[in-house]
Amino acid sequence: MLILVLNAGSSSLKYQLMNPKDGQVKATGLCERIGIDGRLVHEVENKKTKKDISMPSHKEAIEIFLDILANGEEKVIDSIEEIQAIGHRVVHGGEYFSSSVVVNEDVIEKLESLIPLAPLHNPANIMGVKIAQQIMPGKPNVAVFDTAFHQTMEASNFMYAVPYEDYKDHGVRKYGFHGTSHYYVSNEAKKMLNKDDSKVIVCHLGNGSSVCAVKDGKSIDTSMGLTPLEGLVMGTRSGDIDAGVLSYLMDKKDMSAQETVNYLNKKSGLLGVSGISSDLREIIEASENGDERAKTTIDMKCNRIKKYICSYAGVLEGVDAICFTAGIGENADLIREKVCSGLEFMGVEIDSEKNKIRNDENREINKESSKTKIYVIPTNEEFVIANDTYNLVKA
Ligand code: AMP
Repeated sequence: MLILVLNAGSSSLKYQLMNPKDGQVKATGLCERIGIDGRLVHEVENKKTKKDISMPSHKEAIEIFLDILANGEEKVIDSIEEIQAIGHRVVHGGEYFSSSVVVNEDVIEKLESLIPLAPLHNPANIMGVKIAQQIMPGKPNVAVFDTAFHQTMEASNFMYAVPYEDYKDHGVRKYGFHGTSHYYVSNEAKKMLNKDDSKVIVCHLGNGSSVCAVKDGKSIDTSMGLTPLEGLVMGTRSGDIDAGVLSYLMDKKDMSAQETVNYLNKKSGLLGVSGISSDLREIIEASENGDERAKTTIDMKCNRIKKYICSYAGVLEGVDAICFTAGIGENADLIREKVCSGLEFMGVEIDSEKNKIRNDENREINKESSKTKIYVIPTNEEFVIANDTYNLVKA
């Protein structure tokens, strides 16, 4: 019983072959520069193989790694027939999907109708599904959505304060993203807390970052919005900003609306403020070497997270656990320390020594006396995708 997890981007494709019951990963990999030249990184049991190999389209990319899985030097299966189903990460499910679904014609049509809401992601995700159907006919494909977990939000939290017709006619509302990760991490936290009526805040801090307030296992508010641009300061995205800045910048820099949104998505955030990099490690290093702008960038990043934690503690009417996950959340003890310090008034007491310990396990980093737990929980979106896929296709 194996599930192939696919995450198709416009010129890249991540894959993972997994046993959905115990989460055991047979192989994982990344096809990059698809349609340009082609590069493959394939990994089996921590052994990485890198290859430059022609990939004119996603079809060749999938054919290449399937061949390696079944016929390569370190093959992990005897035949593609061992793959029971394919689980796809799909970014936008709009209001149509509040959970994962087996893909059929109707699902594809709905995903296509959502392209205006996710023009960079949904087309590639749909293409991934169609090619998988072509290459592995007869095998079920399941779509797992970044937005689905947040469909439990109440209108009072997902509406924007614009005329109601814009929601009704054009779907203008907060959808939220990173749902698979927020679901996984909050669920792990619920197990660690060992209580059902839990109030959890998940900080998914990666290149893209978002915060989610989870009550009794349900998302009740999250920081990303109609698109993944809203909320925290991210690698290259501004996060929250006065909408007035858009028209002001358009005027001052002679940019179109699309160019301005692109500017806020690709040139802003950590990269834009620091002028150094979108990679937080480089900014931390510069700050340690006395770079004032780098220091301000880090403080901005942490203050924004802190503001969301405090506002979500209010929305939740208390908080049992604050969880950190993804590249920054799992690895950057400095960020966790800065975010949590000063929150003692609401029962949040970080243990600086525990915070510095590094491993891949779920761990508690609060002081014994802390009323609120602070957890580091490595996310595992692929496991959720494989598990949902298995549960939907098993006989
Ligand atoms: P992700 O998108 O989840 O892969 O996370 C990528 C981000 O994690 C980048 O901004 C990295 O700089 C950051 N990151 C990874 N390891 C560390 C670390 N040890 N300290 C600070 N940031 C890190």
